[in-house]
Formats: sequence, C-alpha cells, structure tokens
Amino acid sequence: MPELPEVETIRRFLEPAIQGCRIRSLEVWQPRLRYPVPRDLAREVSGHRIKELARRAKYLIFHLESQNWLLVHLGMSGRLRLIKPGEPRSPHDHWEMRLSHDRTLRLHDPRRFSLLLKGQGNPDLHPLLSRLGPEPLAPGFGGPEWIRALKTRKAAVKSLLLDGRLVAGVGNIYASEALFRAGIHPRRSGSRIGIARARALGSAIRSVLEEALEAGGSTLRDYRRPNDDPGGFRVCWRVYGREGEPCPDCGQAIRRIRIGQRSSFFCPSCQH
Ligand SMILES: [Zn+2]
Repeated sequence: MPELPEVETIRRFLEPAIQGCRIRSLEVWQPRLRYPVPRDLAREVSGHRIKELARRAKYLIFHLESQNWLLVHLGMSGRLRLIKPGEPRSPHDHWEMRLSHDRTLRLHDPRRFSLLLKGQGNPDLHPLLSRLGPEPLAPGFGGPEWIRALKTRKAAVKSLLLDGRLVAGVGNIYASEALFRAGIHPRRSGSRIGIARARALGSAIRSVLEEALEAGGSTLRDYRRPNDDPGGFRVCWRVYGREGEPCPDCGQAIRRIRIGQRSSFFCPSCQH
C-alpha cells in the first residue's frame, strides 16, 4: 500500500514532468473505483492547465486553472505513472490523462480502492480532507499544541496515530516504527503519555517518514521503469513485520498484537 513517503516521492517525481502541461483529454475506462468517478469529470477538466501537484496526507491534489482541482488517492494498490505513447492497456488500467508535451499519466489499480474526484475552491474543505490533522512533515509538527491534542485522547496511541485526526497520513508501518523509537507501548492511552515522551513520539514520526523519503529519493529512478512496484521502500524496519525476531535494541522477541483490527509490532521490554 502506498504510504505517505511513497506518495510524496511520486509527487516529487511527477510534478516537474507535468507542471504547466495542459490536459488534452482524460479517458476513464473503469469508473467504479472507491467512489464512482463522476460522469462529467473528464469533460470538465479537459483543456485545463496543471498549475501544481500538491499532497495532503496520502492524497495527491492536481491544482488546475480557475480554482479547479483533481483529487487522487492510490488506495491499496494504485500506481500512477508516466507511460510511453502507445503503451498497450492492461486489464487493471482504469484511467489515462493525456497532456500536452506528449506526456501521458495512467492509473493502474488491481484492487480498485483508488479514487479520482474533482472539486473547486479550497480542497481542504472537501469532506475527505477537512478532518485531517497536521502534516507530519510540516514545520512545527509535534509541538506543544500537538502534545495537548494527544493528551486529550483516551484511545490506544496506535489507533490515534492511524485515524488521521491527530496526524495526517501515517500508516500502519510508520506508526509501529515511530512507537518503537519513542519507547511507547502501542496500547498506551494518549492521555497517559508524559510530555517528554509525547515530544519524542512527535520527532520519531517525523524521522521515520524522513528516512523513508530519503530511501525513496534514492530509488526515484525506479519510477521511470514502467513495471516497477513503487509500494514500500526497502527501508530496514526495526519491528514492523518482525514478529518473533530479536529486538534490535535488547534482543527480546518482537511481538504482534491486534489493535483496532490492525497488526501492531512492538518490543515488550523496550516499549511501555
Ligand atoms: Zn527491545
């Protein structure tokens, strides 16, 4: 599943290639994605120039002229890539955006949890974005205001990190890794995390994401290869997916528990 660093890497790769291009046409082959692609979307965006490619959490926002924008989420298995002209369609290719300068963007998504929507005005007011918490890579993330917000929540901290309101776009892998680095048990209530540990958690979230981004930067050229899988950078996870393996800090076996239907990996001796 593309996580925030993967989405940001895709954004950084695509933006210079498509910024300033005009949308010649948008062809939707499969409108039944996570939400139905609106019938008139293709007609409405044709002819618009792409001003900017932004990101909010794991959403890509194509800012167009006249305050129009397109919202794209890659879901569980979506891949958005520049293709060579005339590349044959494969069964899971669902839409294609043809741009000026002979550029073509195509979405491939076997599981069809991705989305393509259109809006106008401020995208932050869209229902999918309006309740999102702060961006973990934005300056000031993890400061006093964030710590106060964390401490008002009684739920397990692992669930809080995943629900998007406390911090935007942090997925299961990064939540597990950040909690390990901060030494916090995934089941601990947000309200029962001390200020120093809350601060450590804020910086751990930022550092795991930044390291993954760096790893993504070094594999950026892989995105040029049409059939390469962009999901999941080869970063060395310390606890995620390592049930039964020794903790890199103390040697105790890493454990896996279920919290809110999701697997959490942690070290029973380093995290409390
Ligand atoms: Zn340990």
